[in-house]
Amino acid sequence: MVEPKLIALFLEDDTAVNRLAVQILQPAGYQVERLIDEAQLQPRLRIELPNALLVDDSLSKKTLHALFKEFPVLPLIYYTAQASPEERLRHYQEGFDAVLTAQDDPVETLSIVNRAVQRQEDWQEWLQLERKRHTQSLEKRVEDLERLHRIGGKISASLNLNQVLREVVTAAVELTDAEEGNLMLLDKDSGNLILHAAHSVGEQKTAILRIPIYDTLLGEVIRTQKAVILGGSELTKIKTAFFVRALIYVPLLMGNQAIGVLGIYNRKREQPFSEYHLMLLEALADYAAIAIQNAYYYTANERERQKLHTLLTNVRDGVLVLDDEFRVVLINEACLSAFGLQEQDCLGKAIDQVIFNQDLILMLKQAPSQWAKGGEIRLEDGRIWNCQLTPIPDVGLAVTMHDITHLKELDRVKSEFVSAVSHDLRSPLTAILGYTELIGRVGPLNERQKEFIKRVQASVQGITALISDLLDLGRIEAGLDARKELLDLRPLIRQSLENLSNFLNEKGHQLEVEISPSTPLIWGNAVRIQQMIANLVSNAIKYTPKGGRLGVRTRKEDEQLVLQVWDSGIGIPPAEQPYIFDKFYRASNLPEDTSGTGLGLTIVKSIVEDHQGRIWVESTPEQGTTFTIVLPAAEGDQSSPDRK
Ligand code: ADP
Repeated sequence: MVEPKLIALFLEDDTAVNRLAVQILQPAGYQVERLIDEAQLQPRLRIELPNALLVDDSLSKKTLHALFKEFPVLPLIYYTAQASPEERLRHYQEGFDAVLTAQDDPVETLSIVNRAVQRQEDWQEWLQLERKRHTQSLEKRVEDLERLHRIGGKISASLNLNQVLREVVTAAVELTDAEEGNLMLLDKDSGNLILHAAHSVGEQKTAILRIPIYDTLLGEVIRTQKAVILGGSELTKIKTAFFVRALIYVPLLMGNQAIGVLGIYNRKREQPFSEYHLMLLEALADYAAIAIQNAYYYTANERERQKLHTLLTNVRDGVLVLDDEFRVVLINEACLSAFGLQEQDCLGKAIDQVIFNQDLILMLKQAPSQWAKGGEIRLEDGRIWNCQLTPIPDVGLAVTMHDITHLKELDRVKSEFVSAVSHDLRSPLTAILGYTELIGRVGPLNERQKEFIKRVQASVQGITALISDLLDLGRIEAGLDARKELLDLRPLIRQSLENLSNFLNEKGHQLEVEISPSTPLIWGNAVRIQQMIANLVSNAIKYTPKGGRLGVRTRKEDEQLVLQVWDSGIGIPPAEQPYIFDKFYRASNLPEDTSGTGLGLTIVKSIVEDHQGRIWVESTPEQGTTFTIVLPAAEGDQSSPDRK
């Protein structure tokens, strides 16, 4: 049922009220309400707005203005007994919608009221439509923004660049209601823009695939890095690649460079694009630029990763990377096959749960100490690998392993040969020495003959020393001194120093011995350990000019025995330091006629390695040299300050 329309009356004159209500408005179907209290007028109208309000001059001007202001859609009709044309004009000027007088006949009166009511209805309908239109447009904007947001999310999640670019263009077309859109990227080599993604509504296909940037509108967008929005007559002035009625071009900016253009077009429809469309397109262009940047970084990263992976996988050396807790972070093919492992069984696991090679595990256990830098390990299949340990900050430890089996074999064959030859040489040399001693007994010798014999004897003694060094080395390398016992180094040091005291005094050196009472016991071969100390101390004496200083120190550190032999001698040139442990190597700074075989340090190193220890040298020419040896302390070593 349709509600009757309501007309409110604020009139003083009862007769007028009566006439209007009973004779004219009610019969015409209006509901009529008389309002009397001016103070209650506004509150009443707020509850329900009538379709028109008739007032007379009993209403104060103040309330009247308040009504105009608060209820702009309420038709206000001025009622008066009579009005001259001038008075009517004044009332209209005051803002009334109509003027009624007591003289107007009922038909005229009703039609004035009807018109006012109709006008109000038109107003309200228009308002409603407007509201709806606004709501729809707001809803559309919210939808647009949501779509933009979704695309943004996809871009950060997707690394498939082409898919993202297609998505951007489709969204550009759909959000702007364009007929067509495309995305072109600048090809730096050719200077052309090349089509990367396109979307069109209906059957149309984007014809262009490649556009030079000079003398084109697109080129201008790239050069100026500014968007263009064109339509209608503006376009006819500009040469575009194909005929369009409206377009927007937005540059894709990466840093301070334009790397492409996102465009939308209307080719058939004469529908222009707005600033709002431009804003949407700019947001999409930003997304596309981010996606391109992401893809660029990802591809570069991936390429580097692949390169590294191929490198690590294909090198013949074993590579193993462990984290700070000795868990496997990376293990390459060579390493996997050497230990008979599968990659998936190793990654993330503790190294001693996947690799059971004791040499390697022992070396890694020592790795935290500064002494451990690498060593040799023997694999189950007999191969020997040289391992280098390199700490990597923030990662852990890298172990590189190089197969030295063939070198070891060569060394062994050579040593065997040298041992055999040395052995065979020993007897004739002994005979030569014996006969030189006999010569003097069989007849008198003159002074020159005696001198020559002395020289022969010195040379033969030199060769004999060399041979015994070679034989020693052969024995140590062949592992013939395997028998080891619990050793206290301190008496061995004292004994070695004692044996060399003549040599020491001859050169007038000052000796400093600092042997810590906590020096731990070691497992070792007493003869070889003493030989090791003697070789180092005799070198220190030999290579220190007369009246120098030298010393021997021992201490315990990290469950290891540290032995140092130092001197204030001639030192070793830095470039030659890596070679002094090689067989027969003698440094270039030796004074002329310094006797020696170049085997002493080789023997020392072999002895140290035979005892699972390490040796290195620190030396400054003209200032002195320090050799440091670290040997593992015997397990359960009860070294204590009172052990003598
Ligand atoms: P050598 O018989 O020549 O002493 P080593 O193998 O004992 O042979 O030493 C090799 C070389 O290392 C020596 O020739 C010398 O150049 C250098 N060297 C060894 N110890 C010292 C030292 N304490 N001071 C300076 N140079 C040394």
